[in-house]
Amino acid sequence: MQLLKDRILTDGQVETGGVLKVDGFLNHRIDVCLLEEIGKEFRRIFEGEGITKILTIEASGIAIAVETARFFRIPVVFAKKNQSINIAGDVFATKVESFTHGKTYDVVVSKKFLSPEDNILIIDDFLANGSALLGLVSLVRDSGASLAGAGIVIEKAFQSGGDIVRGLGVRVESLARILDMSGGEIVFAD
Ligand code: 5GP
Repeated sequence: MQLLKDRILTDGQVETGGVLKVDGFLNHRIDVCLLEEIGKEFRRIFEGEGITKILTIEASGIAIAVETARFFRIPVVFAKKNQSINIAGDVFATKVESFTHGKTYDVVVSKKFLSPEDNILIIDDFLANGSALLGLVSLVRDSGASLAGAGIVIEKAFQSGGDIVRGLGVRVESLARILDMSGGEIVFAD
């Protein structure tokens, strides 16, 4: 998605440790016009797949998922990172290792909100080592729902997550794929 790639080049900051900061338009301040184009693009890619719900993970996936869901007119479910008392018990649960925070979280979704009748589209902001996406895939599989695929805004293709998740047979569509940024300069896949 050219608009997104241009914006990454203009406003993205390459940090040490292979982290790309996009907090000027996606992760802290959000450019809602860009977000709208991202939502439209995910709808274009996945329309006709019979998707019934979008699943994401808090916090930074939520805005992207909501904007995408507006175009599909379907609900968003977001996986919660810490099991809180109000949803304790009847949940699908998994563990996710945070690439940016170096912590492992318990991630849960209430069993009320995913069912075998669902066909799920997973949405997230980044794909790096794949822990977040693998966690979401495992929640979908535990629920018995079908998985239409995953829409990722920025895939860091120099990390292993994309290969691992595609290797499981999951359709992963990324709007910007970064091949390399080790020298501080961002190189896209296409
Ligand atoms: P993974 O689980 O694939 O290793 O990492 C995915 C999660 O880590 C995303 O949900 C995102 O929040 C965060 N993340 C991974 N790499 C980056 C990055 O380079 N920049 C930012 N801002 N977040 C990242």
